[in-house]
This record gives sequence, C-alpha cells and structure tokens, in this order.
Amino acid sequence: MHELGLMSSAMDAVLQQARSRGAQRVHRIVLRIGALAGVEPESLRFAFDVVTRDTIAAGSTLEVDAVPARARCAACAEDFDAGTDYVFSCPRCGQLSGDLRQGRELELAQIEMS
Ligand SMILES: [Zn+2]
Repeated sequence: MHELGLMSSAMDAVLQQARSRGAQRVHRIVLRIGALAGVEPESLRFAFDVVTRDTIAAGSTLEVDAVPARARCAACAEDFDAGTDYVFSCPRCGQLSGDLRQGRELELAQIEMS
C-alpha cells in the first residue's frame, strides 16, 4: 500500500511546518489529490490514522480536495474532462490527446494548527 509511504512523507512535511511555527496541535490537513494520482481515499485515511498516531496531529481531520482529470486537445485547444481511463479523446473534434493538464496532483493544500 503506497498510500502509507505518501502519507508518511506528507506528515513529515506537516510536522516540520508545525515545529517551525511553534504549533502545539495540528487540527486539520487538506490534501489536493488528482483523479489520476493513483491514490485510494480509503487507504489514505487508514494511512493517515496510522501516521498521525502519537503525534501532535493525532485526532486531526483529513480533508481530501479531489481534482478532476482535465486534458487539452492539441488540434483545437479545447480543455475537457479527461476521465480516468488514460485515453483522452476530445469531445469537440475527436482527436486523441496526451496533454493532461491536471489530475495527477498529490500535494498538501492547507494545514490548520495552533
Ligand atoms: Zn479537439
């Protein structure tokens, strides 16, 4: 389960920020996750519980900001919803596009601490 590794590095970053700001408690963490990031939300939540245990982030809330996959057509410059099947065909002109603009995000969007 690679979510555990991902969550563990995310938590390292969170705790480092908390330390540098002198925070005693982390209340809420928001992660931006693309539809094609290959992350399963349920596994992520499980990993979150594991890595926050016995830290100042224990009992905090994990929020997932889901980013839909969007691609751009090279032929007509249309931006469109790409879906999650890795075959992106333009709804306007039918061209296949490999130009994924968003959907692979996996980043820390927000941390609430005090
Ligand atoms: Zn097109």
